[in-house]
Amino acid sequence: MSQVNASEQLNRLKAIIEGTRAGTWEWNAHTGEQRINERWAEMLGYSSRELEPISIAIWHRLCHPDDLARSNEAFQRHFDGETPYYECIVRLRHKEGHWVWIHDRGRLMSRTAEGDPEWVVGTHIDISQQHINAQLLNKLAETIPGVIYIFRMYADGRVEFPYVSEGVREFYGREPDAILQDASLVFELVHPEDAQRLQQSILESYRALGQWTCEYRVVLNGREIWLEGIATPEREWLDQEVVTWYGMVVDISHRKALEARLLELSVTDELTGLYNRRFLLQRLAELLDDYRRHEVVFSLVQVDLDWFKSINDTYGHLMGDEVLKAFAATLKNRLRKGDIAGRSGGEEFLILLPHTDTCEALELIDDIRAVFAGTEFFNDELQTFKASFSAGITQVQAEDERFDQLLSRADKALYKAKDAGRNRVHIEPDRHCSKGGKRTR
Ligand code: GH3
Ligand code: MG
Ligand code: MG
Repeated sequence: MSQVNASEQLNRLKAIIEGTRAGTWEWNAHTGEQRINERWAEMLGYSSRELEPISIAIWHRLCHPDDLARSNEAFQRHFDGETPYYECIVRLRHKEGHWVWIHDRGRLMSRTAEGDPEWVVGTHIDISQQHINAQLLNKLAETIPGVIYIFRMYADGRVEFPYVSEGVREFYGREPDAILQDASLVFELVHPEDAQRLQQSILESYRALGQWTCEYRVVLNGREIWLEGIATPEREWLDQEVVTWYGMVVDISHRKALEARLLELSVTDELTGLYNRRFLLQRLAELLDDYRRHEVVFSLVQVDLDWFKSINDTYGHLMGDEVLKAFAATLKNRLRKGDIAGRSGGEEFLILLPHTDTCEALELIDDIRAVFAGTEFFNDELQTFKASFSAGITQVQAEDERFDQLLSRADKALYKAKDAGRNRVHIEPDRHCSKGGKRTR
């Protein structure tokens, strides 16, 4: 190569380096000699002349002590042949006092005759702006009551989080760094009952590129948290089978608890904790539907406490309430799983007994009648008294089209029980049952 060509080439390389706005350095690891270009100094607010005499001491003086240690380790790894290049992100002190974030890269060029590292050359790129952006993003993320993230899925089902905010610790108990490469670690914590629905919703969003939303539970240290995720998918431009979502996940446990409580309140009778009339009638309609479709038999019981007016009058309204609660407790104790009891109003109750005919119902309700009638109540003056109820039972029939037909038959049976002297159970239409309840018919 001619002299002219060589210097031309050198000028071109210089121009390229200037174009990248990179600071350059050459360091003799053996002697400590150091050379830098103008840009190296300029990044830190100096001219190269101001930094003279240039030696490795300048680097030691300007580099953050923590980063200096990391940088030395990275150099050592490179010198030992563990890494093909030296690379480290370091903070250098600017002339005005603040830190400048530098992406420092380099490579060993020569060794001494003894084989020790000699000349190392490299570049400095100022990444302060990226660092500020990342910090800004993290600050914003911290103020959000949840996690913001970027989630990516590949055609083979591999998933990763290119970005995830700190909140992920609280929700998933994982360090952000731990899940960046392998997002599936997060799915391991999802409640088994929600896992499939969650997967399904992600696949659906992957296929149709529709917004992803899902409510699901995670179980962390035995505690259940309800989360709601919302994210917008985008197909990668270069690889159409790769989809990236940008979104957030928030904790909705509080809302879910409120919803559950509201639902409970909307179907519960406050005094007794039994179901309310609305819920009972709704279940009655459903059972009638089931019967008409699949002939699943059930019985309906109508209950009315006896002489309740006089209990109130004699022992007080509050004592009356106690009797209502005690009756409800007896029902809860004695009814079977699947039976549904509710307070239909005042001292009146409805009970639904699925898979139960009138004779079985009679036996069950008459047992409850006997237990309740035997219960002793005490008032404040330690007077004791007893209460009782009468009940009417009917079983669903082929001609039943509306649930009020059942209600009116049960009512009729109840009326007969009252008429026959109270504290007894009647069925309608009347039939002979071989065991149980004979006394009360
Ligand atoms: P019967 O044996 O004929 O059913 O007599 P009864 O006195 O129970 O009948 P009635 O329907 O005339 O009276 C029901 C009473 O129940 C009237 C009302 O004061 C009382 N009652 C209704 N709701 C409540 C309640 O929530 N608490 C209390 N303590 N009493 C109630
Ligand atoms: Mg009544
Ligand atoms: Mg009554």
